[in-house]
Amino acid sequence: MAKEGEQPTEPDVAARLAATRAEIEAAARAAGREPGGVTLIAVSKAQPAARIEAALAAGQRVFGENYVQEAAGRWPALRDRYDGVELHLIGGLQSNKARDAVALFDAIQSLDRPRLARELRREIDRQGRNPRLLIQVNTGEEPQKSGVVPDELPALIELCRELELKLEGLMAIPPETDDVAPHTALLVKLARRHGLSAVSAGMSADFTTAVRFGATHVRVGSAIFGARKRVAASG
Ligand SMILES: *Cc1c(COP(=O)(O)O)cnc(C)c1O
Repeated sequence: MAKEGEQPTEPDVAARLAATRAEIEAAARAAGREPGGVTLIAVSKAQPAARIEAALAAGQRVFGENYVQEAAGRWPALRDRYDGVELHLIGGLQSNKARDAVALFDAIQSLDRPRLARELRREIDRQGRNPRLLIQVNTGEEPQKSGVVPDELPALIELCRELELKLEGLMAIPPETDDVAPHTALLVKLARRHGLSAVSAGMSADFTTAVRFGATHVRVGSAIFGARKRVAASG
């Protein structure tokens, strides 16, 4: 416990990162999968710069951000200093931010509607940058949540193929109180059916379960970096 007047201890990001990687590896092996088939995305939204630098110093290169503006504020400078950084957008994307998102991200996991697919195609042509795309699926069919419901998925996949987008897979954010397992299993089934390789599911509380059920990408924030310091600004 921190004494009164003292700052609480900073999380040991390198140790937490190593522990997270070890848990992923164990979960993959237990499921008869190659640990190399799982990509750990360190979710750095709303985290102080020092923690992100600690993760970079410990060798982490794949990061997830929720907000285009927040990511644009810090990653260009970090990329100048660290080679091989791969950035994933895991938060909702407004069509009018497609330009900035294509400029910055290597993968966009929140494609969820035809208009955004068309806007991304325009920006990819304009900029000559071609991020990998994942379609966000609302596997819990929650009315307030973004993502296509499973019934609408085939049409959006077809559009992506017509537009020749680099569609790699599917992503889901299950309802908070649900077990991640059936949601991951459903994503895996849908991905296979449509010939897609990437399945993004699992967060700090449940990434080992997601790995056991076939996730190829897990998005882990607080387990690596500690509690977020503030609510990130939108955008
Ligand atoms: C914030 C966030 C995460 C990481 O959440 P933690 O519980 O901190 O691991 C993963 N995925 C998405 C889409 C998020 O918004």
